[in-house]
Amino acid sequence: MSPRRAAAAIAFLYLFLGYIWISFSDRFLLTIAAESSYLTELQTYKGWTYVTITAGLLYLLAYRALQRERNLSERDGLTLLLNRHMFERELASEIQYAHDNQQNLSVIMLNIDGFKQINSHVSLEAGDKFLIAVAGELREACHQQALIARFGNDEFAIALPDSTWPDDVLPLLQQIQRRIAHIRISESPQLSFTASAGLALYPRDGSAASELIDAADLALEQARQTERGSYKLYNAELSAIMSNKARLLFDLKSAIEKRQLTVVYQPQFCVSENRMTGLEVLVRWNHPERGIIPPCDFIPLAEQNGLICGITDFVMQQAISELTEYGLLYRDVQRVSFNVSAADFNGNESCDRFLSNLALLPGDWSVIELELTESAALLNLEGVKQVLEKLTEKGVQVSLDDFGTGYSSLNTLRLLPIKEVKIDQSFVKDIVQNKQDAKLVKTILAMAQALHLRVVAEGVETHAQANYLMKAGCEEFQGYLYARPMPINHLVTFINNLKQQQRAQS
Ligand code: C2E
Ligand code: CA
Ligand code: CA
Repeated sequence: MSPRRAAAAIAFLYLFLGYIWISFSDRFLLTIAAESSYLTELQTYKGWTYVTITAGLLYLLAYRALQRERNLSERDGLTLLLNRHMFERELASEIQYAHDNQQNLSVIMLNIDGFKQINSHVSLEAGDKFLIAVAGELREACHQQALIARFGNDEFAIALPDSTWPDDVLPLLQQIQRRIAHIRISESPQLSFTASAGLALYPRDGSAASELIDAADLALEQARQTERGSYKLYNAELSAIMSNKARLLFDLKSAIEKRQLTVVYQPQFCVSENRMTGLEVLVRWNHPERGIIPPCDFIPLAEQNGLICGITDFVMQQAISELTEYGLLYRDVQRVSFNVSAADFNGNESCDRFLSNLALLPGDWSVIELELTESAALLNLEGVKQVLEKLTEKGVQVSLDDFGTGYSSLNTLRLLPIKEVKIDQSFVKDIVQNKQDAKLVKTILAMAQALHLRVVAEGVETHAQANYLMKAGCEEFQGYLYARPMPINHLVTFINNLKQQQRAQS
């Protein structure tokens, strides 16, 4: 019923009752006490009774309306737990109390792992039901003094006054995690969820409500990155790492947008023919304050935070444009290899991204090779397969990077249109001293020969390694022994010198 109609109904009811009261109460009094000398007093009492009853009704109405209004501003509409604003306010007064009485206090932030699945795979209603059930479990598990809130989505906060870690808090946290794991939704009873948690303690981790909430939030983030259903206690070192990471991520986003990354090229050689066979393109980030940041520090960060496609697009476009501008492509460079990640193959638009990047090529696409690691391939096998099939139709070649380090390299070879394997640096490093590594490399080479695959050994640093690999039948090499990764202008000089050398020899 609309507020206007509800108010009209209440007013009408009041009018009706008032009318009945006025019409009949006097008559009733006259019937029972017309002759009494107390008639005037009785009529006064009757008036008082009327005022008292209506005052009671008015109180009830006002109380319920005000309570509702307060709930709306203090409570989360779905679960009726406190909202974030009220949680912070109440927590502040609990902290004050803990301070005055020299007590400890704990704050727990909880997040349901993979909750999005319910909303996207089942229904929004099922998601709501689940959250209401979580709120119910939290109410049941926590004692009366606990503050329980929902901060939005699937994030819950609990403050436990007068509690110490781990004695009071850990058993409760474990109980909460167990309870949440047992919640089932009728629409999809096979689904169950874990909850990750982050904890902050007063006075150790902060003395203001917002400080404790932020600290517990940071710890939660760490727990979520470590393992589903785990918990982490805040520590200052962790916070420094996290804020360092957050800063790096922020800067990386901006570097990609402003196209501040650069690319370098590392040549690959067929040593027996004294010929450069190809180039691997590697990204570089020269941070304005921190200097050169190695790819192993920012590529995983980019992969985890949805930035890798921007990097791949940049690297492809930049390398094609530089190599074309300097007239190297097709003439001196017959193969250009790009590193790609699993996330490059996510979503329907991934194939179009590759197609539009490669459309910048002035000629044949068979000069392009994509290097992907086995773990990337297996993370998203279907997506990778579909895109690679379309690209190989157009001549693009595929190489399996860091070969031998995964669990089922052979299976990956069978499932994807792979033309080349790159023997991982870790095997090359100790190939001369370590018999086990040497055996493995020989096996890879025999297998590659049987499957008609090209093999490139990477990370070749010494003549001893190169000689060993050559004797074992490896033809192509990449490593500091021959050339380090270099920017385009150095590459031009390098290629010119190589050509001069070759002319002198012939
Ligand atoms: P990777 O694909 O295995 O690349 C080879 C790495 O070995 C490069 O390191 C290269 O500089 C280094 N290297 C080459 N020869 C030698 C050698 O003789 N000795 C030693 N010790 N190292 C050698 P870099 O450039 O630091 O790249 C590291 C990793 O970062 C790459 O490993 C690749 O996985 C990733 N990466 C680099 N550029 C890109 C990119 O554009 N996109 C993606 N997705 N990943 C990239
Ligand atoms: Ca590579
Ligand atoms: Ca590699």
